[in-house]
Amino acid sequence: MKLLVATRSAHKMVEIREIMGHVPGVELLDLDQAGISPAPEEEGLEPFDTFEANARSKARYFHARSGLPTVADDSGLEVDALDGAPGVFSKRFAPGDTIGEERDQANNRYLLELLTEVPDDRRTARYVCVAALEDGTGQGPVVRGTVEGLITRAPRGSGGFGYDPLFYVPELGRTFGEATPEEKHARSHRGDAFRGLARALGEGA
Ligand code: IMP
Repeated sequence: MKLLVATRSAHKMVEIREIMGHVPGVELLDLDQAGISPAPEEEGLEPFDTFEANARSKARYFHARSGLPTVADDSGLEVDALDGAPGVFSKRFAPGDTIGEERDQANNRYLLELLTEVPDDRRTARYVCVAALEDGTGQGPVVRGTVEGLITRAPRGSGGFGYDPLFYVPELGRTFGEATPEEKHARSHRGDAFRGLARALGEGA
């Protein structure tokens, strides 16, 4: 089975291949491999206030363009002291128009600034990832993965991407920025969600 992974994020694509790349009978294709070039309307595919609705929206759109079974990931960081923000707005949290690495760094600086006065024991947070599969039936599995952590007071490590240098996982004793990819995926929201999706695909086979 060819499965299209509908993301323009190179970081997410690498992680999804590492997590799900060895599922027997499943060949992962990225958008380039499927010949799906970027289109302006892709900017408007995540207007909803839940990860589930946004993941379904992206999977449905790219399934319609490709005709392939398509999985999409919507993910983000929920910080308890910020009442769950940035949540579905994690990608564009900090004010301003930066992109790529600069955007990640602006987001991280902004998050640390907002949490300056928040004591260590109230810096709890979780990453959430929802993986949704569209197979043309509208009934494909939608799987949520989470991982609990604490927001540090300064970045630590250069691994992973996005908020990873600020996301400390007590069980690991390190941030995801300091973890190896294997250590991250074994515990991460994305590992949790995509392993669940792989199980759902196996059960449906
Ligand atoms: P999406 O493309 O709308 O799902 O945006 C996801 C955003 O959430 C990313 O741009 C990151 O800011 C953040 N995020 C999601 N997963 C991770 C992760 O594994 N590490 C770091 N940041 C993440």
